[in-house]
Amino acid sequence: MPVHLEPRDVSADLENFNSVLIVSCPVCPPMCLAMQQNLPFIEFFKRGLKTGAFEDYIQSIRKPLEQRGMPTGAYSIHTPTPMMCLWTKGQRRRLLKRARDYEAVLVLGCDSAAYTAQEALKNTTCQVIQGMRMIGTTNATLKVRFPMTIDLDMHCVLKNGEARQHKTNVGASQEIEKMAS
Ligand code: SF4
Repeated sequence: MPVHLEPRDVSADLENFNSVLIVSCPVCPPMCLAMQQNLPFIEFFKRGLKTGAFEDYIQSIRKPLEQRGMPTGAYSIHTPTPMMCLWTKGQRRRLLKRARDYEAVLVLGCDSAAYTAQEALKNTTCQVIQGMRMIGTTNATLKVRFPMTIDLDMHCVLKNGEARQHKTNVGASQEIEKMAS
């Protein structure tokens, strides 16, 4: 169930820091960026298992910061679970170690991803900033095409309140926001 996320403008949030580590959840955020930009989720022979739209987005955050002299880093963990909402204690310790050299951590992920980072860094002075806004949950069709390319054809975003309404009022018309036909 991918969470639907949209990027936030975090330039003002980062103004008072001298270094930032960008920590991304490699599950929902790349899917959302690819769908929003109508670009492939995976183009194996071009970008391997990385999502081009998401990697370009991370670079678009880092470049202006580095141009003004701020050191940045990018971090993501895929094993044993890529989902930041389910990170093990070991993964949280790895983040703690990696974030040691940074004043701020910018989380590209949902509220639960940001919570994971906050929990891992609770005994440090490193500040956690959430770089994406949760909109709802996504419904999309996954399409595989030659050569080893995966597209996500988004149908709609179910907003939290509306999804709850559907769940508790079976038979009532489900209100969904059409994002794509
Ligand atoms: S942490 Fe959030 S963004 Fe990442 S997989 Fe879990 S629900 Fe999706």
